[in-house]
Amino acid sequence: MKEKTILIATSNAGKVREMETAFRGLPVRLVPLSHLDALKPELGTIEEPVEDGTTFMGNARIKARYYRDKTGLSALADDSGLSVEALDGAPGVYSARYAGVHGDDAANNQKLIAELRARGEENACAAYHCALILALEDGRELSAEGRCTGFIRPEARGTEGFGYDPYFYRADGRTMAELSREEKHAISHRGEALDQMKEKLRALLGGA
Ligand code: IMP
Repeated sequence: MKEKTILIATSNAGKVREMETAFRGLPVRLVPLSHLDALKPELGTIEEPVEDGTTFMGNARIKARYYRDKTGLSALADDSGLSVEALDGAPGVYSARYAGVHGDDAANNQKLIAELRARGEENACAAYHCALILALEDGRELSAEGRCTGFIRPEARGTEGFGYDPYFYRADGRTMAELSREEKHAISHRGEALDQMKEKLRALLGGA
């Protein structure tokens, strides 16, 4: 069976690896953004899209459609983040830049804990969310969603993972940063969304 080429609309190497692992066994050829130039040199540099959606799914759709339209390839995009009940869902779609600078995990965590302390919340209900959109080159779209619940506590533990993981406690008392990559994939928002997307892709590709 001919492989289907899918552009992975992210420059995050960790996410690319997770997607490659998740879709293993499907007749797909995944092309990370960083390798697009080798496949379609005529496109030159593509600016990043403006992610101004108000939901994770909205932002994933913006990115997937943008790269599909720019390249003519099917494009898979994800958007993810943390939402905390006591903060009315914040940091939400602003998770990556909660404290102002995109991707500054230490500053984001500091702000998160300070906001919760100010409200007297030492054990705050929270959930990670992940939305995935595959914008196919023929205009159809596949979507998938995952969620992982837990609690934000002020004591950091563990060295695995990234982002808010050292402060995100699961019901068993371990933080996400104390789980191996495999353990995290099995219970995480991104793992759930990727597994769901894999099944939809498998059906689309004809039961491969
Ligand atoms: P994006 O999906 O690349 O826009 O990143 C969203 C942000 O949400 C990240 O920068 C992290 O702050 C947070 N986030 C998303 N998934 C996780 C996770 O699995 N662990 C910890 N933080 C996460």
